Amino acid sequence: MTCYFCGGKVVRKKVDHIHKWGDKIYLFKGVAAEVCSQCGETYFDSVELQKMDQVIASDRKPTKKLTIPVFAL
Ligand SMILES: [Zn+2]
Repeated sequence: MTCYFCGGKVVRKKVDHIHKWGDKIYLFKGVAAEVCSQCGETYFDSVELQKMDQVIASDRKPTKKLTIPVFAL
């Protein structure tokens, strides 16, 4: 598979993904994705996207919680 944007080589790896949902932000670790080795564009499997939606919809306890500083520029 090659990158849709730059035509670079896309490699399969596990990444951390920040998922925004309304005014909430979720961090998913170890998400299977295809990442362009040239521009860094990330492509997720629909299965992984579904899994993330399921986790958000469930009341599953997170592994840990982080505090995110917010600034207005
Ligand atoms: Zn690319």
